[in-house]
Amino acid sequence: MQRRSFLQKCSVSGLAFTILPNLAFPTTTEYTIEELMGKANIELFGKDVQLRKEAYEAFTNMKKAAYSDGIDLKVVSSYRSFEHQARIWDRKYINYVDDEGLEPLDAIDKIIEYSTIPGTSRHHWGTDIDLVDGYQKVDGDVLDPEKFEVGKPYASFKKWMDGNSKKYDFYLVYTDNPKRRGFKYEPWHYSYAPLSIPMLTQFRKKNILKLLSKEEIMGSDHFTTGLLRSYIQDNILDINRELL
Ligand SMILES: [Zn+2]
Repeated sequence: MQRRSFLQKCSVSGLAFTILPNLAFPTTTEYTIEELMGKANIELFGKDVQLRKEAYEAFTNMKKAAYSDGIDLKVVSSYRSFEHQARIWDRKYINYVDDEGLEPLDAIDKIIEYSTIPGTSRHHWGTDIDLVDGYQKVDGDVLDPEKFEVGKPYASFKKWMDGNSKKYDFYLVYTDNPKRRGFKYEPWHYSYAPLSIPMLTQFRKKNILKLLSKEEIMGSDHFTTGLLRSYIQDNILDINRELL
């Protein structure tokens, strides 16, 4: 190789080297409001679990590690669309108002102990999962906080997740911190932080209050500004600080 062309090649590759890192690591992904509210057709991965690619890969690694320690990470729920969440909401609303005779506002308060207003579920993001231990046989509802206490069927699952989930970037969202408001303690609900933190950051910048007042779901005519404000503050934002 002649010296001249050698120098040219060096300078071209030198240039490429300085430019490429910026192209290879673009700034944070922008998510559309449809994606953040479960209204977009996003690409999901997995068979028994439906997650965004990165979250799915991390979950698969965590599942393998748990297996070798005798825990079967069984997915109860992962991605949920807006329509799916609306069906859950409407079913609960009908149950509380028509069957149990609660006033609409009391029914809404009861629903938001554990369930989200459609459009605000972290399950819309393809980053969050509800997990139990598939090896344990339990009676009744598997998503029952008592079943995760010491001496109960999911105690070993909880211990394993406490010690290992963060290695795979999965964090508990609704912790048992007594100072936390909003959704009650959910020892089964984990979130893949590298994706869900930027998603929450973007979601909270939107006018969630306005978006929710436009939605037509059962009982939404009883949504007041005050109710929606405290819902956003308590249920969406008063979560594990590590996920903010
Ligand atoms: Zn959940």
